[in-house]
Amino acid sequence: MMGNVFNTNLSEASGFSHPKLLLYLVFFGIVPAFILRTIKVTHTPRSKRLLFLVATLLLGSTWIYANAQSWLWIDKNAKQFGGLILPWSYIVNSARYYDQTTSSRQEQRLLPDIRFTDTKSVVVVLVIGESARAQDFSLYGYQRETNPRLKKAGVTVMPNATSCSTYTTRSLQCMLSHLGDATPIRGGYEPLTSYLYRHGVEVMWRSNNFGEPRMKVSSFQKADDIRKECQGNCYREDYDELLLYKLNEHLRSAQGGKKILVVLHQSGSHGPQYFKKYPPEFETFKPVCRTVEQKKCSSAELINTYDNTILYTDFLLDKVIALLKSLDNTASVMMYMSDHGESLGENGLYLHGIPYSIAPAVQKNIPFLIWMSDKFAERRNLVNPLPVKNQEYSQNYIFHSVMGAFGLVSDVYEKDKDIFHSAAVDQVSLHPLKR
Ligand SMILES: [Zn+2]
Repeated sequence: MMGNVFNTNLSEASGFSHPKLLLYLVFFGIVPAFILRTIKVTHTPRSKRLLFLVATLLLGSTWIYANAQSWLWIDKNAKQFGGLILPWSYIVNSARYYDQTTSSRQEQRLLPDIRFTDTKSVVVVLVIGESARAQDFSLYGYQRETNPRLKKAGVTVMPNATSCSTYTTRSLQCMLSHLGDATPIRGGYEPLTSYLYRHGVEVMWRSNNFGEPRMKVSSFQKADDIRKECQGNCYREDYDELLLYKLNEHLRSAQGGKKILVVLHQSGSHGPQYFKKYPPEFETFKPVCRTVEQKKCSSAELINTYDNTILYTDFLLDKVIALLKSLDNTASVMMYMSDHGESLGENGLYLHGIPYSIAPAVQKNIPFLIWMSDKFAERRNLVNPLPVKNQEYSQNYIFHSVMGAFGLVSDVYEKDKDIFHSAAVDQVSLHPLKR
């Protein structure tokens, strides 16, 4: 949580502000502070203090012995406890966060060299969703039609997809690391994007969000950079469609063996102001919730607003597919996966970020969708639907599947986690390292 506090930006933080917050600040902060100031501190004689100390020690140790049966349990959970006691938790967790970031600023360890199984051009667009939960996708069985376009586009729905965490930074780390959810928080390895770029893949990262690991890529653009580039001529520049600006031209250069990876990091369904995440014409489900204080809206209003964001994501993904389709005769793939799910008031929970071990399923079950161009499917002999029955598709599949889509192998590549893996790849001869 302290990581989230230190990594937030003005637009996210102001999304939570409300005039009522000022009242809270005055009545629970400023007023009590003044009352405390008026209290006169009287000095107690030393003997009295010593007596208190002895009495406290005696009482304390008696209580601890009386509860000896819980020692083991306390010892086991001491680490979490320490981080929960207020106001100590803010100090301790800030220090922990600082410790983590300084260690992650250290040099990232490079992964072993990549070998190419082919020299053909491929375009991969990886769309990373935000706070989208599988439960609200009609492709995952939701009663309400929230994926009208993707249904027609013919995407493959990967079943039982789960996130490795309930917050953005960690989920991105899992998706972009060869170790997946086993990645230590103090990662230290180069992420997928840097890894591919270092071996000659053209990598473009575009983000309307934040929380990505440090990376070295061909082109890295935040929403503001794209807005600067289009100088007010962007289409729907306040929404995720901004990420598609001139992408068409960029992808058209995929010829002559060029391999291109584009990562689009959406703002998606980030709360609490869901109504700000889609253009007005996507307000299909009504009435909607227009306040920061989600608890004030009815459950139906909140779900309506959230579902409109899913409709807009459906539209965005369909647009990406149309773009890939327009690149005639180019092998291409679109992969979409959300970073984590979301709570919409179920059991009194809102938004996301609940500790993983106790987080509800809605914060962990995420959509994972694949679209492949005919040329790509043919080349890989993947005409049959990809998902294996009853298989769980976690975020650990992203790293290896992107490698697989490009026909790349290395000592850290695991074919079991590559959804595009076909037997044919095992038999081809490896090409020398390409720089
Ligand atoms: Zn997120």
